Amino acid sequence: MTTTFDSLNPATGEVVGSHPKHSADTVHEAVGRAEEAAAWWGGLGHAERRRRLLDYKAVLTQHLKELTGLVHRETGKPVGDATLEVVLAITHLDWAARNAHKVLGRRRVSTGMIGLNLVATLEYLPLGVVGVIGPWNYPVFTPMGSIAYALAAGNAVVFKPSELTPGIGVRLAELFRESVPEHEVFQTVTGLGETGAALAADPRVRKIAFTGSTATAKRVMAACAENLTPIVAECGGKDAFIVDADADLAAAADACLWGALSNAGQTCVGVERVYVVDAVYESFMRELSERVTKVRAGEDYGPITMPGQVDIIKRHIDDATKSGRTVAGGPASVRAPYVDPVIVEDVPEDSPAVREETFGPTITVRRTRDAAEALELANASAYGLGGTVFSRNARRATELARRMRSGMTAINSVISFAGVPALPFGGIGDSGFGRIHGADGLREFARPKAISRQRFAMPGMNLTSFTRGPAELERLIRLVTFLHGRRKS
Ligand code: NDP
Repeated sequence: MTTTFDSLNPATGEVVGSHPKHSADTVHEAVGRAEEAAAWWGGLGHAERRRRLLDYKAVLTQHLKELTGLVHRETGKPVGDATLEVVLAITHLDWAARNAHKVLGRRRVSTGMIGLNLVATLEYLPLGVVGVIGPWNYPVFTPMGSIAYALAAGNAVVFKPSELTPGIGVRLAELFRESVPEHEVFQTVTGLGETGAALAADPRVRKIAFTGSTATAKRVMAACAENLTPIVAECGGKDAFIVDADADLAAAADACLWGALSNAGQTCVGVERVYVVDAVYESFMRELSERVTKVRAGEDYGPITMPGQVDIIKRHIDDATKSGRTVAGGPASVRAPYVDPVIVEDVPEDSPAVREETFGPTITVRRTRDAAEALELANASAYGLGGTVFSRNARRATELARRMRSGMTAINSVISFAGVPALPFGGIGDSGFGRIHGADGLREFARPKAISRQRFAMPGMNLTSFTRGPAELERLIRLVTFLHGRRKS
């Protein structure tokens, strides 16, 4: 007998929906169906897949209000934020569908002088079945960053949404069937951690796209190691926000607060650490502390979606307010399921609030001598996902961004890179590896296939034959000396 579990509205405790806890057997059956579907979908070709995916995009857009309502109920986030999330997912789906052929399609590549008699082609073929294990904080945008790109690359997808947001995951797959009714190209399985574990352990799954905590990513990777299943892992971060001396301070404070507090801080690329150069420190803090008084938990952002997260947030706030100076909020800001904004200055760099992912509406702020010191502190993190630089000097800001140890950096805006489908998304270090979004995101779900075809035998240069003689070798040495033997200086 299949048991069920409920998804709850974290703001009210109301049951939003009841879903099956899919067993390992059910997951394996889904993967079996996906294998058949992958053969069909992979064989359709780019043009037909593009047509189907653009149709799916239209279906999602037509159901926008229904989907955002469901996201609102399952996560507690305001409908406006849910709308922004679904719209972003739709733009990614559109980009993946329109660009898959250009990025992955068959093309000729240069063969070089030694391969003059060859034609070389490269294309990126589907992997087969891709397993997507998704989080609850952006239950449409985040998994769609893998699902859309995997589908556009010609794979079938089995999606295991977080146990906190199963309903929206189920609906995304249901709506897909309106555009692709023939085979189960995109299925959702529901359940708790064990359901995801069964998906990761299935040897017929050719890649796992995981979003969640670093600790769980390691467990998923261990399961994948059994079958040598590759994984792309997006594991959150501890993103830094640097305010340089020439920054527009009003804009910086506004962006900083939104980056830190929207979605109650439950954003992998949310602002968690702020470094402000000495010259503008007081002015920036004035802007920040004035503006934060106008942001309200329960109105501007929703509750903490995962009940267990409240304890982590509380631990970080308690510790930070003991060692640092409180600018806004404090331990009393935690009134589960809501947490009011908390800003603390001068928290030691080795404290949990600076080192560990808080995933709540809190920031630590530190004064730095200059931008170089800000960058040094920003980079001294085990995580390396995103980050922000505020400066009016585009060249200087770009240089700081390039030297930031992260996968993405926004300049004079927050998180703007996530809304540009052509930009790859992912991190380094404890933030994970591999990329979703953009051309790299398409290639992440495909395997390069290289073909070299000999058009004619090269006279007197048959190098890969036992008939090769000293004269051929001599010709080769002369050719390579001509091509590569001259030093520039
Ligand atoms: P987890 O990493 O535990 O869960 C992420 C996903 O993995 C969920 O779908 C979960 O399913 C699934 N899962 C859990 N255990 C396994 C397993 N053994 N094998 C396969 N899949 C598994 O994150 P949590 O939701 O518990 O959040 C914990 C922390 O992770 C947060 O405090 C936050 O710091 C971070 N996080 C980061 C996110 C990001 O965007 N990078 C998103 C969410 C969380 P189920 O929900 O059913 O357990």
